Amino acid sequence: MSLKKKNKMPKFIFVAGGVMSGIGKGVATASIGRILKSKGFRVTAIKIDPYVNVDAGTMNPIEHGEIFVTADGTECDQDVGNYERFIDEDLNTFNYITTGRVYQSVINRERNLEYGGKCVEVVPHIPEEVIWRIKKATKKAKADFALIEIGGTVGEYQNSLFLEAARMMRLSQPKDIVFILISYLPIPSIIGEMKTKPTQQAVRWLNMAGIQPDIILARSLVPLDKPRKNKISIFCNVSREDVISAPDIKAIYEIPINFEKDKLGERILKKFGLKIKKKGNLRDWKRLVRVIKTVKKPVRIGIVGKYFETGKFTLMDSYLSIIEAIKHASWFHKRKPEIYWLSAETYEKNPYLLKELKEYDGVIVPGGFGSRGIEGKIKAIEFCRKNKIPYLGLCLGMQLAVVEFARNVCGLKKANSAEFLPESRHPVGDELRSSSRFANARVIDVMPEQGLLLKEKKYGGTMRLGEYKCKIKPKTLSLKAYKTTTISERHRHRYELNNDFRDKLEKKGMVMAGINPEKDLVEIIELPKHPFFVGTQFHPEFKSRPINPHPLFREFIKAAVKQH
Ligand code: GLN
Repeated sequence: MSLKKKNKMPKFIFVAGGVMSGIGKGVATASIGRILKSKGFRVTAIKIDPYVNVDAGTMNPIEHGEIFVTADGTECDQDVGNYERFIDEDLNTFNYITTGRVYQSVINRERNLEYGGKCVEVVPHIPEEVIWRIKKATKKAKADFALIEIGGTVGEYQNSLFLEAARMMRLSQPKDIVFILISYLPIPSIIGEMKTKPTQQAVRWLNMAGIQPDIILARSLVPLDKPRKNKISIFCNVSREDVISAPDIKAIYEIPINFEKDKLGERILKKFGLKIKKKGNLRDWKRLVRVIKTVKKPVRIGIVGKYFETGKFTLMDSYLSIIEAIKHASWFHKRKPEIYWLSAETYEKNPYLLKELKEYDGVIVPGGFGSRGIEGKIKAIEFCRKNKIPYLGLCLGMQLAVVEFARNVCGLKKANSAEFLPESRHPVGDELRSSSRFANARVIDVMPEQGLLLKEKKYGGTMRLGEYKCKIKPKTLSLKAYKTTTISERHRHRYELNNDFRDKLEKKGMVMAGINPEKDLVEIIELPKHPFFVGTQFHPEFKSRPINPHPLFREFIKAAVKQH
Protein backbone atom coordinates (compact mmCIF):
# COMPACT_ATOMS: atom_id res chain seq x y z
CA MET A 1 0.00 0.00 0.00
CA SER A 2 1.31 3.40 -0.86
CA LEU A 3 2.31 5.77 1.88
CA LYS A 4 -0.48 8.14 0.84
CA LYS A 5 -3.21 5.56 1.52
CA LYS A 6 -1.76 4.40 4.82
CA ASN A 7 -1.26 7.81 6.28
CA LYS A 8 -2.80 10.85 4.72
CA MET A 9 -0.30 13.21 3.15
CA PRO A 10 0.73 16.00 3.02
CA LYS A 11 2.09 16.85 6.43
CA PHE A 12 2.91 20.33 7.69
CA ILE A 13 5.85 21.32 9.86
CA PHE A 14 5.72 24.78 11.39
CA VAL A 15 8.98 26.36 12.48
CA ALA A 16 9.08 29.41 14.74
CA GLY A 17 11.90 31.16 16.57
CA GLY A 18 12.27 31.93 20.24
CA VAL A 19 14.40 34.35 22.31
CA MET A 20 15.88 36.43 19.49
CA SER A 21 16.22 36.80 15.76
CA GLY A 22 19.29 35.92 13.73
CA ILE A 23 19.72 32.40 15.09
CA GLY A 24 19.56 30.71 11.71
CA LYS A 25 15.90 29.77 11.49
CA GLY A 26 16.03 29.87 7.71
CA VAL A 27 18.93 27.48 7.30
CA ALA A 28 17.55 25.24 10.04
CA THR A 29 14.23 25.02 8.18
CA ALA A 30 16.06 24.39 4.92
CA SER A 31 18.15 21.68 6.62
CA ILE A 32 15.05 19.88 7.88
CA GLY A 33 13.84 19.96 4.28
CA ARG A 34 17.08 18.41 3.09
CA ILE A 35 16.87 15.64 5.70
CA LEU A 36 13.30 14.72 4.73
CA LYS A 37 14.18 14.81 1.05
CA SER A 38 17.09 12.48 1.67
CA LYS A 39 14.61 10.07 3.25
CA GLY A 40 12.69 9.88 0.01
CA PHE A 41 9.96 12.49 0.46
CA ARG A 42 8.92 15.40 -1.71
CA VAL A 43 9.44 18.59 0.23
CA THR A 44 8.51 22.22 -0.14
CA ALA A 45 9.15 25.18 2.15
CA ILE A 46 7.20 28.37 2.76
CA LYS A 47 8.51 31.58 4.29
CA ILE A 48 6.14 33.82 6.21
CA ASP A 49 7.35 37.38 6.72
CA PRO A 50 5.26 39.36 9.17
CA TYR A 51 5.84 42.78 7.58
CA VAL A 52 3.15 44.72 5.74
CA ASN A 53 5.15 44.97 2.51
CA VAL A 54 3.49 42.90 -0.19
CA ASP A 55 6.90 41.52 -1.15
CA ALA A 56 10.56 42.23 -0.44
CA GLY A 57 11.10 44.09 -3.71
CA THR A 58 10.68 47.61 -2.38
CA MET A 59 13.00 47.20 0.58
CA ASN A 60 16.54 48.47 0.96
CA PRO A 61 18.93 45.49 1.07
CA ILE A 62 20.83 47.00 3.99
CA GLU A 63 17.63 46.86 5.99
CA HIS A 64 16.28 43.58 4.74
CA GLY A 65 19.18 41.63 3.24
CA GLU A 66 19.21 40.15 -0.23
CA ILE A 67 16.06 40.21 -2.30
CA PHE A 68 15.88 36.72 -3.73
CA VAL A 69 14.03 36.17 -7.01
CA THR A 70 12.24 32.93 -7.84
CA ALA A 71 11.80 31.54 -11.36
CA ASP A 72 8.30 33.01 -11.58
CA GLY A 73 9.62 36.43 -10.61
CA THR A 74 8.64 36.72 -6.95
CA GLU A 75 10.86 39.15 -5.05
CA CYS A 76 11.18 37.48 -1.70
CA ASP A 77 13.18 36.92 1.42
CA GLN A 78 16.68 35.45 1.24
CA ASP A 79 15.49 32.39 3.19
CA VAL A 80 13.62 31.25 0.08
CA GLY A 81 17.08 31.13 -1.52
CA ASN A 82 18.31 28.97 1.33
CA TYR A 83 15.38 26.61 0.86
CA GLU A 84 16.11 26.30 -2.87
CA ARG A 85 19.79 25.64 -2.24
CA PHE A 86 19.17 23.01 0.43
CA ILE A 87 16.08 21.30 -0.92
CA ASP A 88 17.24 21.64 -4.52
CA GLU A 89 13.78 22.54 -5.83
CA ASP A 90 12.55 25.66 -7.60
CA LEU A 91 9.99 27.47 -5.48
CA ASN A 92 7.35 29.99 -6.55
CA THR A 93 5.13 32.84 -5.44
CA PHE A 94 3.02 30.60 -3.17
CA ASN A 95 6.11 29.77 -1.14
CA TYR A 96 6.23 33.33 0.12
CA ILE A 97 3.64 34.86 2.44
CA THR A 98 3.65 38.34 3.97
CA THR A 99 1.09 40.21 6.06
CA GLY A 100 0.74 42.56 3.08
CA ARG A 101 -0.05 39.74 0.66
CA VAL A 102 -2.56 38.16 3.00
CA TYR A 103 -4.45 41.38 3.74
CA GLN A 104 -4.38 42.38 0.09
CA SER A 105 -6.12 39.15 -0.96
CA VAL A 106 -8.67 39.30 1.85
CA ILE A 107 -9.53 42.92 1.06
CA ASN A 108 -9.79 42.21 -2.66
CA ARG A 109 -12.06 39.29 -1.95
CA GLU A 110 -14.24 41.41 0.31
CA ARG A 111 -14.53 44.04 -2.44
CA ASN A 112 -15.67 41.30 -4.82
CA LEU A 113 -18.40 40.22 -2.41
CA GLU A 114 -16.78 36.84 -1.99
CA TYR A 115 -17.54 36.67 1.72
CA GLY A 116 -21.26 36.57 0.96
CA GLY A 117 -22.22 39.60 3.01
CA LYS A 118 -20.41 38.46 6.16
CA CYS A 119 -18.47 40.76 8.47
CA VAL A 120 -14.86 40.10 7.49
CA GLU A 121 -12.75 39.89 10.63
CA VAL A 122 -9.06 39.68 11.47
CA VAL A 123 -9.74 36.32 13.10
CA PRO A 124 -10.64 33.92 11.56
CA HIS A 125 -10.45 35.37 8.04
CA ILE A 126 -6.80 36.38 8.06
CA PRO A 127 -5.49 33.04 9.46
CA GLU A 128 -7.85 31.23 7.08
CA GLU A 129 -6.26 33.00 4.14
CA VAL A 130 -2.83 32.02 5.52
CA ILE A 131 -3.93 28.38 5.75
CA TRP A 132 -5.33 28.51 2.21
CA ARG A 133 -1.98 29.82 0.94
CA ILE A 134 -0.01 27.15 2.81
CA LYS A 135 -2.17 24.41 1.30
CA LYS A 136 -2.03 25.92 -2.17
CA ALA A 137 1.80 26.01 -2.08
CA THR A 138 1.92 22.42 -0.85
CA LYS A 139 -0.47 21.21 -3.52
CA LYS A 140 1.36 23.06 -6.26
CA ALA A 141 4.62 21.41 -5.20
CA LYS A 142 2.88 18.02 -4.90
CA ALA A 143 4.78 17.82 -1.63
CA ASP A 144 4.62 15.17 1.07
CA PHE A 145 5.92 17.72 3.55
CA ALA A 146 5.58 21.47 3.72
CA LEU A 147 7.85 23.36 6.03
CA ILE A 148 6.41 26.69 7.12
CA GLU A 149 8.83 29.13 8.70
CA ILE A 150 7.12 31.86 10.69
CA GLY A 151 9.34 34.94 10.59
CA GLY A 152 10.16 37.01 13.66
CA THR A 153 10.29 35.78 17.25
CA VAL A 154 7.47 34.30 19.33
CA GLY A 155 5.96 36.88 21.64
CA GLU A 156 6.02 39.59 19.02
CA TYR A 157 2.76 41.29 18.14
CA GLN A 158 3.55 41.06 14.41
CA ASN A 159 3.57 37.33 13.84
CA SER A 160 0.75 36.35 16.20
CA LEU A 161 -1.78 35.92 13.39
CA PHE A 162 0.49 33.37 11.78
CA LEU A 163 0.78 31.44 15.04
CA GLU A 164 -3.00 31.63 15.16
CA ALA A 165 -3.09 30.04 11.69
CA ALA A 166 -0.86 27.21 12.94
CA ARG A 167 -3.09 26.71 15.97
CA MET A 168 -6.25 26.64 13.85
CA MET A 169 -4.71 24.24 11.39
CA ARG A 170 -3.65 21.89 14.14
CA LEU A 171 -7.13 21.98 15.61
CA SER A 172 -8.68 20.77 12.38
CA GLN A 173 -6.01 18.23 11.41
CA PRO A 174 -4.01 17.38 14.54
CA LYS A 175 -2.29 14.36 12.99
CA ASP A 176 -0.84 16.38 10.15
CA ILE A 177 0.98 19.10 12.08
CA VAL A 178 4.30 19.18 13.89
CA PHE A 179 5.49 22.35 15.55
CA ILE A 180 9.19 23.06 15.99
CA LEU A 181 10.61 25.86 18.09
CA ILE A 182 14.13 27.06 17.34
CA SER A 183 15.44 28.71 20.41
CA TYR A 184 18.65 30.21 21.67
CA LEU A 185 20.61 29.30 24.77
CA PRO A 186 23.02 32.05 25.77
CA ILE A 187 26.24 31.46 27.68
CA PRO A 188 26.80 34.80 29.48
CA SER A 189 30.54 35.34 29.78
CA ILE A 190 30.45 36.30 33.46
CA ILE A 191 28.56 33.14 34.39
CA GLY A 192 30.13 30.79 31.86
CA GLU A 193 27.10 28.50 31.95
CA MET A 194 24.51 27.78 29.30
CA LYS A 195 21.16 29.19 30.37
CA THR A 196 17.79 27.64 29.52
CA LYS A 197 15.44 30.24 31.03
CA PRO A 198 14.91 32.37 27.90
CA THR A 199 13.89 29.19 26.05
CA GLN A 200 11.48 28.27 28.82
CA GLN A 201 9.93 31.69 28.46
CA ALA A 202 9.69 31.39 24.69
CA VAL A 203 7.75 28.16 25.19
CA ARG A 204 5.42 29.99 27.60
CA TRP A 205 4.74 32.54 24.89
CA LEU A 206 3.87 29.77 22.49
CA ASN A 207 1.65 28.12 25.10
CA MET A 208 -0.20 31.40 25.48
CA ALA A 209 -0.85 31.30 21.74
CA GLY A 210 -2.37 27.86 22.25
CA ILE A 211 0.61 25.98 20.85
CA GLN A 212 2.81 23.35 22.46
CA PRO A 213 6.00 22.71 20.51
CA ASP A 214 6.74 19.08 19.64
CA ILE A 215 10.45 19.52 19.08
CA ILE A 216 12.91 22.14 20.30
CA LEU A 217 16.03 22.93 18.31
CA ALA A 218 18.45 24.39 20.79
CA ARG A 219 20.84 26.83 19.15
CA SER A 220 23.93 27.67 21.11
CA LEU A 221 27.65 28.24 20.90
CA VAL A 222 28.39 24.61 21.82
CA PRO A 223 26.41 21.34 21.83
CA LEU A 224 23.89 20.86 24.62
CA ASP A 225 24.93 18.68 27.55
CA LYS A 226 22.68 16.23 29.39
CA PRO A 227 21.63 18.52 32.29
CA ARG A 228 20.54 21.21 29.81
CA LYS A 229 18.58 18.72 27.71
CA ASN A 230 16.86 17.45 30.87
CA LYS A 231 16.00 20.92 32.02
CA ILE A 232 14.47 21.92 28.71
CA SER A 233 12.60 18.65 28.55
CA ILE A 234 11.06 19.06 32.01
CA PHE A 235 10.29 22.75 31.91
CA CYS A 236 9.22 22.95 28.29
CA ASN A 237 7.16 19.79 28.28
CA VAL A 238 8.91 17.90 25.48
CA SER A 239 10.63 14.53 25.68
CA ARG A 240 14.41 14.48 25.96
CA GLU A 241 14.83 13.01 22.48
CA ASP A 242 12.93 15.96 21.10
CA VAL A 243 15.47 18.46 22.34
CA ILE A 244 17.89 18.67 19.43
CA SER A 245 21.29 20.18 19.89
CA ALA A 246 22.17 22.81 17.27
CA PRO A 247 25.59 24.27 18.06
CA ASP A 248 27.28 27.02 16.04
CA ILE A 249 29.19 25.60 13.11
CA LYS A 250 31.33 27.10 10.40
CA ALA A 251 29.66 25.74 7.28
CA ILE A 252 25.88 25.97 7.05
CA TYR A 253 25.84 22.92 4.80
CA GLU A 254 26.87 20.84 7.80
CA ILE A 255 23.65 21.61 9.65
CA PRO A 256 21.56 18.73 8.23
CA ILE A 257 24.36 16.32 9.16
CA ASN A 258 24.48 17.76 12.67
CA PHE A 259 20.73 17.53 13.14
CA GLU A 260 20.86 13.91 12.11
CA LYS A 261 23.34 13.21 14.89
CA ASP A 262 20.38 13.77 17.21
CA LYS A 263 18.13 11.82 14.77
CA LEU A 264 15.89 14.79 13.98
CA GLY A 265 14.50 13.21 10.80
CA GLU A 266 13.42 10.07 12.63
CA ARG A 267 11.84 12.08 15.43
CA ILE A 268 9.77 14.09 12.96
CA LEU A 269 8.60 11.00 11.09
CA LYS A 270 7.73 9.29 14.35
CA LYS A 271 5.51 12.20 15.35
CA PHE A 272 3.58 11.72 12.14
CA GLY A 273 3.54 7.94 12.49
CA LEU A 274 5.50 7.60 9.26
CA LYS A 275 8.29 5.32 8.14
CA ILE A 276 11.38 6.23 6.19
CA LYS A 277 10.89 5.71 2.46
CA LYS A 278 14.54 5.44 1.65
CA LYS A 279 17.56 5.26 3.92
CA GLY A 280 18.73 8.79 3.75
CA ASN A 281 22.34 9.08 4.64
CA LEU A 282 22.97 12.54 3.17
CA ARG A 283 25.91 11.04 1.27
CA ASP A 284 26.29 13.91 -1.18
CA TRP A 285 26.19 16.44 1.64
CA LYS A 286 28.77 14.60 3.66
CA ARG A 287 31.04 14.56 0.62
CA LEU A 288 30.56 18.30 0.17
CA VAL A 289 31.23 19.05 3.83
CA ARG A 290 34.41 16.98 3.64
CA VAL A 291 35.60 19.20 0.78
CA ILE A 292 34.60 22.38 2.63
CA LYS A 293 36.54 21.30 5.68
CA THR A 294 39.66 20.12 3.92
CA VAL A 295 40.31 22.60 1.12
CA LYS A 296 43.29 24.78 1.87
CA LYS A 297 44.42 26.56 -1.28
CA PRO A 298 42.58 29.85 -1.46
CA VAL A 299 40.90 31.67 -4.31
CA ARG A 300 40.55 35.38 -3.56
CA ILE A 301 37.48 37.17 -4.88
CA GLY A 302 36.86 40.89 -4.44
CA ILE A 303 33.28 42.20 -4.50
CA VAL A 304 32.96 45.89 -5.35
CA GLY A 305 29.63 46.87 -3.84
CA LYS A 306 27.85 49.21 -1.48
CA TYR A 307 25.19 47.34 0.45
CA PHE A 308 27.43 46.12 3.23
CA GLU A 309 28.41 49.14 5.28
CA THR A 310 26.10 49.70 8.22
CA GLY A 311 27.42 51.83 11.07
CA LYS A 312 30.51 50.11 12.41
CA PHE A 313 29.49 46.76 11.02
CA THR A 314 29.93 44.97 7.73
CA LEU A 315 26.81 43.13 6.74
CA MET A 316 27.08 40.54 4.00
CA ASP A 317 23.40 39.57 3.87
CA SER A 318 22.65 41.74 0.85
CA TYR A 319 24.85 39.59 -1.35
CA LEU A 320 24.00 36.20 0.10
CA SER A 321 23.32 34.27 -3.12
CA ILE A 322 26.50 35.66 -4.70
CA ILE A 323 28.55 34.54 -1.72
CA GLU A 324 27.00 31.09 -1.88
CA ALA A 325 27.51 30.85 -5.65
CA ILE A 326 31.20 31.75 -5.21
CA LYS A 327 31.52 29.11 -2.52
CA HIS A 328 29.81 26.38 -4.58
CA ALA A 329 32.06 27.04 -7.56
CA SER A 330 35.22 27.29 -5.43
CA TRP A 331 34.55 24.00 -3.70
CA PHE A 332 33.94 22.45 -7.11
CA HIS A 333 37.51 23.47 -8.02
CA LYS A 334 38.72 22.32 -4.58
CA ARG A 335 39.57 25.84 -3.49
CA LYS A 336 38.87 27.70 -0.29
CA PRO A 337 36.87 30.81 -1.17
CA GLU A 338 38.10 34.03 0.36
CA ILE A 339 35.74 36.94 -0.21
CA TYR A 340 36.78 40.57 0.23
CA TRP A 341 34.39 43.50 0.52
CA LEU A 342 35.56 46.45 -1.49
CA SER A 343 33.69 49.73 -1.15
CA ALA A 344 32.91 51.29 -4.54
CA GLU A 345 32.86 54.78 -3.03
CA THR A 346 36.42 54.41 -1.76
CA TYR A 347 37.61 54.08 -5.36
CA GLU A 348 35.82 57.32 -6.23
CA LYS A 349 37.58 59.21 -3.48
CA ASN A 350 40.94 57.45 -3.71
CA PRO A 351 41.52 56.13 -7.25
CA TYR A 352 45.12 55.26 -6.34
CA LEU A 353 43.66 52.39 -4.27
CA LEU A 354 42.47 50.69 -7.45
CA LYS A 355 45.79 48.92 -7.78
CA GLU A 356 44.84 46.79 -4.77
CA LEU A 357 42.50 44.97 -7.17
CA LYS A 358 45.60 43.19 -8.48
CA GLU A 359 45.67 41.26 -5.21
CA TYR A 360 42.47 39.45 -6.13
CA ASP A 361 42.13 36.46 -8.41
CA GLY A 362 38.79 37.68 -9.63
CA VAL A 363 36.46 40.65 -9.18
CA ILE A 364 32.66 40.84 -9.14
CA VAL A 365 30.49 43.92 -9.48
CA PRO A 366 27.09 42.81 -8.23
CA GLY A 367 23.59 44.20 -8.80
CA GLY A 368 22.52 47.54 -7.43
CA PHE A 369 20.28 50.56 -7.73
CA GLY A 370 20.82 54.32 -7.61
CA SER A 371 23.85 56.44 -8.33
CA ARG A 372 25.85 56.00 -5.11
CA GLY A 373 29.20 54.36 -5.86
CA ILE A 374 28.60 54.07 -9.62
CA GLU A 375 31.74 55.92 -10.77
CA GLY A 376 33.88 53.86 -8.38
CA LYS A 377 32.49 50.66 -9.84
CA ILE A 378 33.19 51.88 -13.38
CA LYS A 379 36.79 52.64 -12.40
CA ALA A 380 37.18 49.18 -10.88
CA ILE A 381 35.80 47.57 -14.07
CA GLU A 382 38.21 49.59 -16.22
CA PHE A 383 41.06 48.40 -14.04
CA CYS A 384 39.99 44.75 -14.37
CA ARG A 385 39.60 45.07 -18.14
CA LYS A 386 43.00 46.68 -18.64
CA ASN A 387 44.87 44.49 -16.16
CA LYS A 388 43.29 41.23 -17.31
CA ILE A 389 41.77 40.43 -13.93
CA PRO A 390 38.91 37.92 -14.29
CA TYR A 391 35.71 39.90 -14.08
CA LEU A 392 32.09 38.89 -13.59
CA GLY A 393 29.46 41.63 -13.79
CA LEU A 394 26.00 40.82 -12.48
CA CYS A 395 23.11 42.93 -13.75
CA LEU A 396 24.31 46.43 -12.78
CA GLY A 397 27.83 44.99 -13.06
CA MET A 398 27.08 44.13 -16.71
CA GLN A 399 25.49 47.50 -17.42
CA LEU A 400 28.48 49.37 -16.01
CA ALA A 401 30.90 47.20 -17.98
CA VAL A 402 29.07 48.42 -21.10
CA VAL A 403 29.24 52.04 -19.92
CA GLU A 404 32.95 51.69 -19.21
CA PHE A 405 33.64 50.13 -22.61
CA ALA A 406 31.56 52.79 -24.40
CA ARG A 407 33.41 55.58 -22.63
CA ASN A 408 36.96 54.31 -22.77
CA VAL A 409 37.06 52.10 -25.86
CA CYS A 410 34.34 53.48 -28.13
CA GLY A 411 35.15 57.08 -27.27
CA LEU A 412 31.61 57.97 -26.13
CA LYS A 413 32.84 60.11 -23.29
CA LYS A 414 29.37 60.88 -21.95
CA ALA A 415 28.17 57.29 -22.06
CA ASN A 416 26.00 56.34 -19.13
CA SER A 417 22.96 54.44 -18.00
CA ALA A 418 19.68 56.37 -18.14
CA GLU A 419 19.28 55.44 -14.48
CA PHE A 420 21.99 57.96 -13.61
CA LEU A 421 20.91 60.80 -15.88
CA PRO A 422 18.37 62.58 -13.73
CA GLU A 423 17.43 65.24 -16.29
CA SER A 424 15.85 62.66 -18.57
CA ARG A 425 15.30 59.78 -16.28
CA HIS A 426 12.02 58.38 -17.49
CA PRO A 427 11.59 59.10 -21.19
CA VAL A 428 8.62 57.60 -22.98
CA GLY A 429 7.24 57.70 -26.53
CA ASP A 430 8.80 60.28 -28.80
CA GLU A 431 11.06 61.49 -26.06
CA LEU A 432 12.78 58.14 -26.30
CA ARG A 433 13.63 58.69 -29.92
CA SER A 434 14.81 62.26 -29.47
CA SER A 435 18.37 63.18 -30.32
CA SER A 436 19.27 63.99 -26.70
CA ARG A 437 19.30 60.27 -26.17
CA PHE A 438 22.31 60.01 -28.46
CA ALA A 439 23.92 63.16 -27.13
CA ASN A 440 23.95 61.62 -23.68
CA ALA A 441 24.97 58.25 -25.07
CA ARG A 442 22.47 56.31 -23.03
CA VAL A 443 24.13 53.00 -23.76
CA ILE A 444 21.97 51.51 -21.04
CA ASP A 445 18.43 52.69 -21.36
CA VAL A 446 15.08 52.13 -19.75
CA MET A 447 12.69 49.88 -21.68
CA PRO A 448 9.64 51.82 -22.96
CA GLU A 449 7.17 49.85 -20.86
CA GLN A 450 9.37 50.33 -17.81
CA GLY A 451 9.56 54.09 -18.49
CA LEU A 452 5.77 54.27 -18.29
CA LEU A 453 5.67 52.37 -15.01
CA LEU A 454 8.24 54.71 -13.48
CA LYS A 455 6.31 57.77 -14.63
CA GLU A 456 3.22 56.44 -12.91
CA LYS A 457 5.25 55.58 -9.80
CA LYS A 458 4.28 51.92 -10.08
CA TYR A 459 7.38 50.56 -8.43
CA GLY A 460 6.30 47.40 -6.56
CA GLY A 461 6.76 44.11 -8.40
CA THR A 462 6.99 45.79 -11.82
CA MET A 463 10.63 45.26 -12.83
CA ARG A 464 11.58 42.73 -15.49
CA LEU A 465 11.41 39.83 -13.09
CA GLY A 466 11.99 36.10 -13.12
CA GLU A 467 13.13 33.69 -15.79
CA TYR A 468 13.55 34.65 -19.41
CA LYS A 469 15.08 32.66 -22.24
CA CYS A 470 18.45 33.51 -23.65
CA LYS A 471 20.14 32.18 -26.80
CA ILE A 472 23.88 31.80 -26.59
CA LYS A 473 26.17 32.54 -29.51
CA PRO A 474 28.73 30.03 -30.75
CA LYS A 475 32.41 30.40 -29.88
CA THR A 476 31.74 32.25 -26.64
CA LEU A 477 32.88 31.69 -23.09
CA SER A 478 29.22 31.42 -22.13
CA LEU A 479 28.68 28.51 -24.51
CA LYS A 480 31.74 26.83 -23.07
CA ALA A 481 30.25 27.25 -19.62
CA TYR A 482 26.62 26.33 -20.26
CA LYS A 483 27.34 23.69 -22.95
CA THR A 484 23.92 24.45 -24.46
CA THR A 485 22.60 27.20 -26.72
CA THR A 486 19.31 27.95 -24.93
CA ILE A 487 19.27 28.85 -21.28
CA SER A 488 16.82 30.43 -18.89
CA GLU A 489 17.92 32.81 -16.16
CA ARG A 490 16.35 35.01 -13.49
CA HIS A 491 16.09 38.78 -13.87
CA ARG A 492 15.42 41.83 -11.71
CA HIS A 493 15.99 45.13 -13.48
CA ARG A 494 14.41 48.00 -15.42
CA TYR A 495 17.28 49.01 -17.68
CA GLU A 496 18.76 47.27 -20.71
CA LEU A 497 21.60 47.55 -23.16
CA ASN A 498 20.40 50.08 -25.75
CA ASN A 499 20.31 48.25 -29.11
CA ASP A 500 21.10 51.50 -30.94
CA PHE A 501 24.66 51.18 -29.65
CA ARG A 502 25.11 47.47 -30.30
CA ASP A 503 26.96 47.94 -33.59
CA LYS A 504 29.35 50.47 -32.15
CA LEU A 505 30.19 48.28 -29.18
CA GLU A 506 30.57 45.16 -31.33
CA LYS A 507 32.84 46.92 -33.80
CA LYS A 508 35.24 47.69 -30.97
CA GLY A 509 35.26 44.07 -29.84
CA MET A 510 32.47 43.60 -27.32
CA VAL A 511 30.71 40.29 -27.95
CA MET A 512 26.96 40.10 -27.43
CA ALA A 513 27.14 36.50 -26.27
CA GLY A 514 23.56 35.98 -25.12
CA ILE A 515 20.36 37.40 -26.59
CA ASN A 516 16.76 37.17 -25.45
CA PRO A 517 15.02 35.85 -28.57
CA GLU A 518 11.55 37.33 -27.90
CA LYS A 519 12.61 40.93 -27.44
CA ASP A 520 16.08 40.92 -28.94
CA LEU A 521 17.65 42.11 -25.70
CA VAL A 522 21.32 41.64 -24.88
CA GLU A 523 21.57 39.36 -21.86
CA ILE A 524 25.29 38.51 -21.83
CA ILE A 525 28.32 40.53 -22.91
CA GLU A 526 31.86 39.23 -23.15
CA LEU A 527 35.27 40.60 -24.00
CA PRO A 528 37.57 38.22 -25.83
CA LYS A 529 41.35 38.61 -25.45
CA HIS A 530 40.83 38.65 -21.72
CA PRO A 531 41.17 35.67 -19.33
CA PHE A 532 37.51 36.10 -18.30
CA PHE A 533 35.35 39.15 -18.78
CA VAL A 534 31.62 38.37 -18.68
CA GLY A 535 28.62 40.49 -17.77
CA THR A 536 25.08 39.17 -17.41
CA GLN A 537 21.89 41.20 -17.40
CA PHE A 538 20.39 38.39 -15.30
CA HIS A 539 21.39 37.07 -11.89
CA PRO A 540 23.03 33.65 -12.30
CA GLU A 541 23.69 33.52 -8.55
CA PHE A 542 20.04 32.67 -7.86
CA LYS A 543 20.35 29.32 -9.62
CA SER A 544 23.57 28.05 -8.08
CA ARG A 545 23.22 25.00 -5.85
CA PRO A 546 25.86 23.56 -3.51
CA ILE A 547 26.14 20.24 -5.32
CA ASN A 548 25.61 21.83 -8.71
CA PRO A 549 27.45 25.16 -9.03
CA HIS A 550 26.31 27.65 -11.63
CA PRO A 551 28.20 27.23 -14.95
CA LEU A 552 29.25 30.88 -15.19
CA PHE A 553 30.50 31.01 -11.62
CA ARG A 554 32.27 27.71 -12.24
CA GLU A 555 34.12 29.16 -15.26
CA PHE A 556 34.80 32.45 -13.46
CA ILE A 557 36.37 30.69 -10.51
CA LYS A 558 38.32 28.45 -12.91
CA ALA A 559 39.81 31.57 -14.49
CA ALA A 560 40.46 33.03 -11.04
CA VAL A 561 42.25 29.86 -9.96
CA LYS A 562 44.46 30.17 -13.05
CA GLN A 563 45.14 33.78 -12.17
CA HIS A 564 46.14 32.79 -8.64
N1 GLN B 1 19.54 49.31 -11.45
C1 GLN B 1 19.68 48.48 -12.59
C2 GLN B 1 18.36 48.23 -13.30
O1 GLN B 1 17.31 48.42 -12.73
C3 GLN B 1 20.34 47.17 -12.22
C4 GLN B 1 19.48 46.30 -11.36
C5 GLN B 1 20.23 45.17 -10.71
O2 GLN B 1 21.45 45.20 -10.63
N2 GLN B 1 19.53 44.18 -10.20
O3 GLN B 1 18.35 47.86 -14.43
